[in-house]
Amino acid sequence: MEIRVRYAPSPTGYMHVGNLRSALYNYLVAKSLGGKFILRIEDTDQKRKVDGAEKIIFDTLEQTGLVCDEGPGIGGNFGPYVQSERKEIYNKHALELIGKGDAYYCFCAKSEENKCDCKNLDPKLVENYISSDKNYVIRQKMPECGISSFDDVVFGHIEIENDQLEDQILIKSDGMPTYNFANVIDDHLMRISHVIRGCEYLSATPKYNLLYKSFGWEIPIYVHLPLIMGKNPDGSVTKLSKRAGAVSFVDLVNEGYLPEAIINYISFLGWNPGSTQEIFSLDELEKVFSIDNIRKSPAIFDYEKLAWVNEHHIKMKSDEEFADILRKYVDFETNLIKLAKILKPRVSKLSQIENMIDFFRQRPDVDKNLIMNKKNKLDEKIAKEILSNSIEVLEKVDRWENSVLFENLSSLSTQMNIKKNAIMWVIRVSASGKEVTPGGATEVLEILGKEESIIRLKNVLNKLV
Ligand code: GLU
Repeated sequence: MEIRVRYAPSPTGYMHVGNLRSALYNYLVAKSLGGKFILRIEDTDQKRKVDGAEKIIFDTLEQTGLVCDEGPGIGGNFGPYVQSERKEIYNKHALELIGKGDAYYCFCAKSEENKCDCKNLDPKLVENYISSDKNYVIRQKMPECGISSFDDVVFGHIEIENDQLEDQILIKSDGMPTYNFANVIDDHLMRISHVIRGCEYLSATPKYNLLYKSFGWEIPIYVHLPLIMGKNPDGSVTKLSKRAGAVSFVDLVNEGYLPEAIINYISFLGWNPGSTQEIFSLDELEKVFSIDNIRKSPAIFDYEKLAWVNEHHIKMKSDEEFADILRKYVDFETNLIKLAKILKPRVSKLSQIENMIDFFRQRPDVDKNLIMNKKNKLDEKIAKEILSNSIEVLEKVDRWENSVLFENLSSLSTQMNIKKNAIMWVIRVSASGKEVTPGGATEVLEILGKEESIIRLKNVLNKLV
């Protein structure tokens, strides 16, 4: 069997993590089984359509590396891949179903939708209504008794009494198909082998299977994915929503998560590799992914875990790669590689960078009380001595490098018989205006450069009496 899977988002302007997971699992199934990954835009609900939404879909797939083999703008033998461009195809198939007696025209006004009984209308009357331009929808005729069942790879055997199935609309009054109809026609015509999607579609699947049966088509393999739940601030589990944190890909990127970390984390929302390894690149996921390891119990989206995964992916970057990321945050003259070296081990979300580097950009107005520190037994007199001696030593340094600066200040500490920590503390706070900085005092000095460092230390010295 040729493996062909599809990611079929509706362009609603928002790439929810649940959607992204569907995209990822489809992609991984295609890659791990040597199949094709197809993108289909499901835009038949024109009311929900949002301008620019398709671009968000394309951009997300590009940023995450989920490259499609067929789709809009890519091509393929089974297009068009945008449902609104396939209207005639759906209409033709709906008429075929009417011919078979498995669908019917329904002329009921919306309010009466559920009570109407158009399936038994006299064919003459139907013809009359249609020629007089009366509004209609086309509905699927469900069997009145019996049971429909199917086997889902993840959720197992599913059964439903046919009398529970309503005569769902296939073609709407605007001539557009419903998702319920279009997905079946397209999955068949696009030769989809595995339908992989969220479990919210599980209960409607028997209706889709009846459509396959009416047409005499082979039913695809179904792989429904577990729910994704969120966590409230108090730890209780809830539906994943904005209130429980960012839930779209763009939100997560804006919060400072790397696309590869998001992908790595999302891969675990319903699957596990069957080992203890938790950090994966997309390439590695392609090798280990297996449908057999998808589970049906709900997954919980945990921001702490995502930050942990993100931190690992940041550490895996080379200094050059991380310097490249920093470019976006750094709008002042500095050595990006040096900055990358001190930030990389300390950042778990890119959004933390701004606060960590603001003191490099702007000379701080240091509060001298920050320097007097009980732990280091510093009073103003000692602090002043430390600063003036340090400035004297530092002014003589030619090679302005962390190791040289460190050596010099270390010898000063021996000379003055003052703990090294105390000296470094005074230097760090004076140079940055902060108690905590990325990198040690001398790393900070190295990045600031000699001239700027001395100016900053002198400024503080002038405040001390
Ligand atoms: N257009 C549907 C959605 O965005 C896709 C469901 C499916 O994959 O069949 O939820």
